[in-house]
Amino acid sequence: MLEQFARLNAKTVSLKISGNLPLLDVTDLCGVLALLDEHHSWYIYAMIEQRRAYNMELLHKYIQQLVIQEMRKREFKSRKVKLMDFAYGVTKAALFAHFNPRGKCKVCNGLGFKAAKRCEHCNGKGTREYNWSEKVQYGFPSRRDLTRDWYRKSCGYYDQFIESILHEIAAELSEKLNKVRKQAIAYKRLESAVLFDDDL
Ligand SMILES: [Zn+2]
Repeated sequence: MLEQFARLNAKTVSLKISGNLPLLDVTDLCGVLALLDEHHSWYIYAMIEQRRAYNMELLHKYIQQLVIQEMRKREFKSRKVKLMDFAYGVTKAALFAHFNPRGKCKVCNGLGFKAAKRCEHCNGKGTREYNWSEKVQYGFPSRRDLTRDWYRKSCGYYDQFIESILHEIAAELSEKLNKVRKQAIAYKRLESAVLFDDDL
């Protein structure tokens, strides 16, 4: 999916584009984004490194609101961190980890599966995970008193919650992209069918 969207940004260097002739053009890709809520655009632009910091910040604001809602729903209170700071920190840590994967998972070598089974080490993602102490450092840098155990117990649920929001955004983008791609294939067939008829 990213390979397709990377064409929206000529400067995307971290993604290799395969040599195949593209079926979709940039207009189609913009059309996909126009069909979805704006947080999908923030997600994809951050992914393809188009104004990454700016788009990650917009995404951060959006997700932080969802985290606060979820905290209220679960009547969650942190004794150590204020509600707003908690939501801000956990969102920052989870977003950072999502957009800056640290290379391939050592167990499955980035494949996400091993011997036809989902890799348990990386949960099928294929990327190397940040550990809890790195997340606490990134999300709450001024709080030396917070431990990795604290992050696991207090933030663990919300960290997963954020990760599932991001996965849902990616899945929706992928689904819409596939739909447009199918339309493009059907149109190509139609076009060649018409040409064929003309030949007769
Ligand atoms: Zn793995």
